[in-house]
Amino acid sequence: MVSSSTGFNSGLDIGKSYYVATANPAPDHPALIGHVEADLVVVGGGCTGLSAALHAAQRGLKVVLLEGGKIGWGASGRNGGQMIPGLRKGAKGLVKAFGPERAKALFDLAFEARGLVLDIIERHAIDCDLRLSGHLVGAVNSSDLKDLEDEAECLARVMNFRDVEILSAAEARGKVDTPYHGAMYEPLGGHMHPLNYTLGLARAAVAAGVTIHENSVAVRLEREPSIKVSTATGSVRAKHVVLAGDALLQGLEPRVNSRIMPVGNYIVATEPLKGKRNVIPANVAVSDTRFVVNYYRMSADGRLLFGGGERYTPSPPADIAGFVRPHMEQTFPQLKGCRIDHAWGGLVSVTTSRLPHVGHYGEVYFAHGYSGKGVILSTLSGKLLAEAITGDASRLDLFSTLSPLPFPGGTALRGPLYVLGMLWYAMRDRIKH
Ligand SMILES: Cc1cc2nc3c(=O)[nH]c(=O)nc-3n(C[C@H](O)[C@H](O)[C@H](O)COP(=O)(O)OP(=O)(O)OC[C@H]3O[C@@H](n4cnc5c(N)ncnc54)[C@H](O)[C@@H]3O)c2cc1C
Repeated sequence: MVSSSTGFNSGLDIGKSYYVATANPAPDHPALIGHVEADLVVVGGGCTGLSAALHAAQRGLKVVLLEGGKIGWGASGRNGGQMIPGLRKGAKGLVKAFGPERAKALFDLAFEARGLVLDIIERHAIDCDLRLSGHLVGAVNSSDLKDLEDEAECLARVMNFRDVEILSAAEARGKVDTPYHGAMYEPLGGHMHPLNYTLGLARAAVAAGVTIHENSVAVRLEREPSIKVSTATGSVRAKHVVLAGDALLQGLEPRVNSRIMPVGNYIVATEPLKGKRNVIPANVAVSDTRFVVNYYRMSADGRLLFGGGERYTPSPPADIAGFVRPHMEQTFPQLKGCRIDHAWGGLVSVTTSRLPHVGHYGEVYFAHGYSGKGVILSTLSGKLLAEAITGDASRLDLFSTLSPLPFPGGTALRGPLYVLGMLWYAMRDRIKH
């Protein structure tokens, strides 16, 4: 069972999340004790690590996965559950950064994530409230709508991708009851219960032969004479290691840590909303064009799950519900005073380019930094890592060309400099609207 734990990664009130309250039954996995040998050791039991483990085991490798806390208690089990095809950087941004040809190859590869996740859900019968009802980006002002129109045009022209519609203000209002200036609707998006998906992925990995150890924090990584990962009570020697700790990974590999910045992000779940108070009649996943994005959707039992507001200081707000409520009520004044039943937070790992950092240093493989768009991309990245480890690095190599720059100032200064930059953008949001 997913039990409450006060250990590693249990901060930001994960125990109070809607997802933990509605998690499918899942087995506990014993901590690592003693020394074991494997072909691959994976650090991190979120979707990246579990997918790498699953796909490597399916290719015949002996895999041991170490999770510091519980399976899915990192970002994978606490996020907004919004399945948004593509990368955080849009088509226009990709073309500007990489030129049309490479941009299209990257887009096509990232788009594969959707089909992969749907296939895994079906193949392993994962019960995770999957809704393929689409994703809508709401334009908060008219210049944002123009940007969305340009994005749709670029998707069609360069990516040959036409599964997007630009909606007028009235059409958008028919899908979500808040006054946007218009919207971009992506019918291939959707949403799901991310913790139940992650627990299902773990079940599939175990069935494929992966050994999972929870409550097993990797504290040391040695590379010579071969890879050895140690916890407080044991160690794993292996030919390869996958570092899939995302925002929570600290200290094991400085070249990996310096590329990501953990940012606190917070979500609430309201009481079930009936009748007119169902503010998303089309049941779509929604995000808006603010720099500090509001994102929301309905849960399977009719609650609004609303994420909004970021914090760049290490400490979370004392009252998470009170922190998110103004963002929610600004979007939906009709919900003023409604009851909030769950409030929790997580760490989004962002990179300087908002593109993931994926690749390897010798036998040390890594994938992280999806910058808030990792629900489905993490599963794909894990698969690309497994492909590379088992001999075909071509697709991983394409993704690794995204390589974002390290944060300026190294790990000591990245926090303060980043905070200054983010505050400036957040202020620009306020001035624009
Ligand atoms: C609040 C929030 C909302 C989000 N909403 C969305 C959304 O709606 N749509 C979207 O696409 N993306 C969203 N994201 C981003 C998405 O959740 C992540 O990109 C994705 O889940 C990352 O998966 P992961 O497996 O790489 O990392 P994680 O799920 O964080 O897994 C990493 C795991 O590694 C473990 N770990 C770390 N260090 C060690 C160690 N030393 N030893 C052992 N274990 C270790 C951690 O305990 C953790 O379980 C959101 C993120 C957050 C935080």
